[in-house]
Order: sequence, then C-alpha cells, then structure tokens
Amino acid sequence: MKRRVSILGATGSVGTSTLDLIERSPDRFDVIALTAGSDAQGLADAARRTSAKLAVIADPSHLAELETRLAGTDCRAATGADALNEAAAGEAEWVMAAIVGCAGLVPVMAAIEAGRTVALANKEALVSAGALMIDAAARHGATLLPVDSEHNAIFQCLAGSRREDVAKLILTASGGPFRTASDAAIRAATPAQAVAHPNWTMGAKISVDSATLMNKGLELIEAHHLFGLPSNRIDILIHPQSVVHSLVEFIDGSVLAQLGSPDMRVPIAYALAWPERMATPAQRLDLATIRSLDFEQPDLQQFPALRIARQALEQSGAAPTILNAANEVAVAGFLAGQFAFTEIASLVEQALERAVAGAPSSIEDVIQIDLETRHAVAELIEARCH
Ligand code: NDP
Repeated sequence: MKRRVSILGATGSVGTSTLDLIERSPDRFDVIALTAGSDAQGLADAARRTSAKLAVIADPSHLAELETRLAGTDCRAATGADALNEAAAGEAEWVMAAIVGCAGLVPVMAAIEAGRTVALANKEALVSAGALMIDAAARHGATLLPVDSEHNAIFQCLAGSRREDVAKLILTASGGPFRTASDAAIRAATPAQAVAHPNWTMGAKISVDSATLMNKGLELIEAHHLFGLPSNRIDILIHPQSVVHSLVEFIDGSVLAQLGSPDMRVPIAYALAWPERMATPAQRLDLATIRSLDFEQPDLQQFPALRIARQALEQSGAAPTILNAANEVAVAGFLAGQFAFTEIASLVEQALERAVAGAPSSIEDVIQIDLETRHAVAELIEARCH
C-alpha cells in the first residue's frame, strides 16, 4: 500500500529534497497536501507534478496566483491557519514538517495531535515548545522521526538499544564557513559569506545559524528533547568534512556512528521509508578518497551562540523559547543588512537577560513568549540602528 504523505514547507530546501525522493518512487507514495509561505509558482508546480489534492499558501496575498496556476487540476488551493492545519492533520499518515522557524509550530502540533508520523526538520518548533511537543506526541500516539542529519544519525545508532545503556550523545558540527576565519573577518562577515556553507546547500536561515553555530545550539536542545538526555551528556564535536553525522557512546565504551556523504536526501529517505529503507541517488561514501577525517573542540569564544544556547537549555523555563525567537529576529535583521554578524549572538544574549518567565504551560504560552521576545528584540535593534 502506498504511504500517504504531506509536506509542510514543500518549496524549501528540505521540502524540495523530499519531493525529489517521492518523485523518484511514485509507486511508494501518494502526495496529499503541500504547503508554502509565499512561493505560489513553486507550490503550484510541485502540486501539479505530484497530483497533490491540497495546496496551501500561508501568505494570503498569493492565493489568487496559486489558484490561477492550479486551474484545470484537481488540486484545491487554500490559505490561512485552518488550511495549514488541514494540510498537517488531513488524510496523510506521514507529514514532513519543513517550515522554517516557529511559524511551523501550530501545524506541527496539529499533525502530532492527529497522531501522525511526523518527520521533523523544523527544529525551531521543538526548541520553542520542548516538552509540550514531546508530551503531546506521547499522549496522541504520534511518532516523531528526526530529519536533522545529526539527530537522524543518533536515531539510527540507537535502533535496537536500551536507553539506559547510552552514556552520551556526540553531535558533530561542520564548524560553518567561518571555522578558520579571524575575529576581524567574522566581525566583517557579509550575509552572502554567511550563507555560503562549505558542505550543505540549505535555506538562508539555517545557513546563518550554521555560521554562528547557533544551529548546533538549537540541535543540542533538540537532541535533549528527542532523546531525553541532559545537557551534560550531549557533547558537540567539530568535524569539518560532515561525513560522520553524529555518534552515540554506550556505557561499555562502544561508540556507534552513522556516516554518509552530506546529502539531506539520506536522512529524509530514512524518515520517508521508516521503518524500512529506500534507495537514494546520494553520492556513495568513498573513504579511501576522503582519506582522513578531522575532529576538534568548538571555539566558544569565537562562536558564543553555542555557549548561550547551552545556558538556555540548562536554565530551561522560557529560556529556549526566548533563545529561538530572538535568534530568528536577529538572523532576519542580519540578512537584511541591519547589523554585523557578531551582533546576532549578542542580541540573543541580551534577550535572554529578560528570561524571567517560567516554563510555558501551553502552546498559546509559547506563542505569547515568542511574540513578546520578537517585539523586545525588534526594539533592541531599533535602538542600535538609531
Ligand atoms: P527554506 O527556507 O529553504 O524553506 C522553508 C519553507 O518554509 C519554504 O517552503 C517556505 O515557503 C516555508 N515558509 C517560510 N515561512 C513560512 C511561514 N511564515 N509560514 C508557512 N510557511 C513558511 O528552509 P530549509 O528547507 O532550509 O529548512 C526548513 C527547516 O528544516 C528549518 O527548520 C531548518 O532548520 C530545518 N533543517 C534544514 C536542513 C537543510 O538542509 N535545509 C537540514 C536540517 C534541518 P516559501 O518557499 O514560499 O518561502
């Protein structure tokens, strides 16, 4: 029987890689719903190619264009929060959560509350909602499959083992485009330099997060929630080649790792076919050509975002929600050319100084804290620019 799938964020980097795999295996998948933010053309093209039944565009000003582009097909065009939730919690039993940022939180929760199998790329939603999301998944019988290559690697390494036998998790990080750059070069980094990741082709936001190492900080919090380990049992290791995607150390001293060429279609395929596997066109790993793999400790002086994220995890309460919201606003400001690269971490740290609120007790609380933080950081930016 074909697996019925929906993709939230179908026009993005993860979304298009997911579509690429689905279109290579049309006998395995039926596409039910696809969503995008504002890219009506990309969404309509994907919906036509896959014979999707529902296409949802988050920005209502693009609905008319979407309708025009879908004319003559059986695909319904829609917009608005209800339509996004319908895409997430409709007929598909498997949902790819690949919207960028906390904007994906409500639809991800809709999929979870409908008990779906959720392939989770949208790490910001999990960082913001944390235990609320994990608890909801348990309560509603939803399955969360990690798509982030590091968490997918850990998920693969943990298969068949008991959680009490795990000593620690080791998340690898490429180090981003500024790993070997001088302090001065980092201070002068442009948006174009920051998004030019050495190993992965990704959306702009996660590329900047990789350059600040905030991405690894978000992944640390993501790993804590997905695998239930405290901060002091999750290490970060810089590995510039991005071949070892992460490792698990067990209590007997054994270490398991998952390796592969840096191609998101590998972890996406693992989630798409889970609990089976499927073929992908990813380049095969040729270790004899690569010859050596390097590892080093992250430099927390040069990349303070990682230290700040770990502190937010250890502080818990509202801190991870604030960390994520502040980072989203700061990254958008940097990409818009409003301030220097190094200001991103400093804005996030300032926002966290206000982190007095307790842990959010509902998704509405998360959204409220997220909104308040966005306003606060926008004010900080405004004050700096004038
Ligand atoms: P992209 O920016 O490439 O794509 C984001 C997707 O979300 C697009 O479909 C976009 O639509 C849609 N979108 C943007 N804003 C909104 C909104 N307000 N409401 C609804 N939809 C919206 O991001 P990536 O694919 O790179 O990343 C997606 C998620 O996956 C992120 O959370 C990222 O951290 C995570 N991830 C990404 C990896 C990668 O390799 N790219 C690796 C691991 C995790 P539109 O095109 O119309 O703007």
